[in-house]
Amino acid sequence: MTAKIISGKEIAEQIRRELKQKTDKLVAEEGVTPGLVTILVGENPASVSYVTAKQRAAKELGFYSIQDTQPASISEDDLLALVDKYNKDAAIHGILVQLPLPKHINETQVLYAIDPDKDVDGFHPVNVGKLMIGEARYLPCTPAGIQQLLIRSGTETSGAEVVVVGRSNIVGKPIANILLQKKDGANATVTICHTRTKDMAAHTRRADILIVAAGFPNAVTADMVKEGAVVIDVGVNRVGEKPSTKTPGKMVAILKGDVDFDAVKEKASAITPVPGGVGPMTITMLMENTLKSARHAAGLE
Ligand code: NAP
Repeated sequence: MTAKIISGKEIAEQIRRELKQKTDKLVAEEGVTPGLVTILVGENPASVSYVTAKQRAAKELGFYSIQDTQPASISEDDLLALVDKYNKDAAIHGILVQLPLPKHINETQVLYAIDPDKDVDGFHPVNVGKLMIGEARYLPCTPAGIQQLLIRSGTETSGAEVVVVGRSNIVGKPIANILLQKKDGANATVTICHTRTKDMAAHTRRADILIVAAGFPNAVTADMVKEGAVVIDVGVNRVGEKPSTKTPGKMVAILKGDVDFDAVKEKASAITPVPGGVGPMTITMLMENTLKSARHAAGLE
């Protein structure tokens, strides 16, 4: 069996077209423009490129967007004051603080300071708790993107054996929680594996849907996958560099997922590639959450 490729790039483009229509309608009918601020502290190159991509996506949708860059030396108190300023700014519906933050700043304190109504990353404990009880307004972006990939690729989750490799707060735990909910696009039987799991392959081989967020290449090999499984590879590993095809003289990272793609695609019924799988969905879901927040502020949801 050669797997169908689930293109996150195509599905993300489709969702962005839908978001653009909804945004235009909100602006035209309610006079409300979704507003997103991305706060970047320091100049970490990966963070700069993530924030740039988020700003570009917001602008393409016609959002009001602010890129607020602060020096790495900013104090925790000043950063908290900045978050508070945007909490009170009615033109801003979503606040994203790009992680990681410099070591002298307590990340948890800063994330907890964001108004839960503007927490479009879905990391505030109020939103984590709401997700747990099935009442989330904002699903965290990467797990929300994974659920959309499953729904829009026609993958049946109800009653499916889902195995998640990884239990991080940003991917593993929330995607397990989302797929467990008594809702459409969920209703799965979910197992989570981690470094203390005994015989991980025994679990992964039972999976109808295998979601891998372990953080290293080849964490899942073909012998660990059931024939016909749907495999979602969340991993992004920089394994080298190659010359850019777009900008002569520039080097770009060679990316690999957490799954042995070439071997696993011969066994799975469907699989996401890296790049072009989960990655494009994450930013798209950030835009969806920002639009939701704006619609909520306009009294529409
Ligand atoms: P993380 O915080 O490092 O968590 C990795 C998880 O995998 C941990 O729970 C760890 O278990 C588990 N694990 C590690 N080695 C294992 C092994 N040998 N067997 C079983 N479990 C193992 O990583 P993360 O933030 O969830 O990210 C995971 C991957 O997804 C990374 O490659 C990251 O770059 C990528 N990612 C991509 C996106 C995107 O938008 N595409 C977004 C977020 C993350 P313990 O808890 O026991 O240590």
